[in-house]
Amino acid sequence: MTGQAHTDAAADTVESDLRCGHCGTSTAMLRQGQRWCGTCHIWLVRDHTGTEWVSYAEREHRQHATETARRIADATGVVTRTLPRLQALVPPGWQVTVHQPSSAIPTIAVDPPPGTVDATAYLQPADGDRGWYVRIHNRARRIDFPLYTAGGAHAAYFATTAKALHAARTALAIEMVDAGHR
Ligand SMILES: [Zn+2]
Repeated sequence: MTGQAHTDAAADTVESDLRCGHCGTSTAMLRQGQRWCGTCHIWLVRDHTGTEWVSYAEREHRQHATETARRIADATGVVTRTLPRLQALVPPGWQVTVHQPSSAIPTIAVDPPPGTVDATAYLQPADGDRGWYVRIHNRARRIDFPLYTAGGAHAAYFATTAKALHAARTALAIEMVDAGHR
């Protein structure tokens, strides 16, 4: 009897209660066969962790936020582990430090000796593999550019830390020559 009533109800517009993650209201409603919050007037789907019922937009937002946090955490691990090795590889006078803007992917900043050129190379860990991308920021010339592959179609990818550092130092050497000619 109870089982029959439950089946009838499920086939209609009611299922077991769940809590809307937006307004906190308990709802058992279905609309067009999908979970619905009558207070927020939104369809509800499980978020990416499967623990809360939220809108499609919120699920997307949470997924994106989690992915970003993961990338930052991964990159933080990589730059922290790599830093001592890079510090050992640069000549005296050069500075190698972790550059970590809040809520952004951390990079390793490579600075030439003071008094040469006001420019920094940033080594950014590539996502999903072990390589690096390199950007040059020349404050004196107010330019900021990634190192490109020959032909300039894609940002250059450096498979090893040593190769990335070599490319960064070569690019900074060019900026130093430019600065010297001013
Ligand atoms: Zn709601």
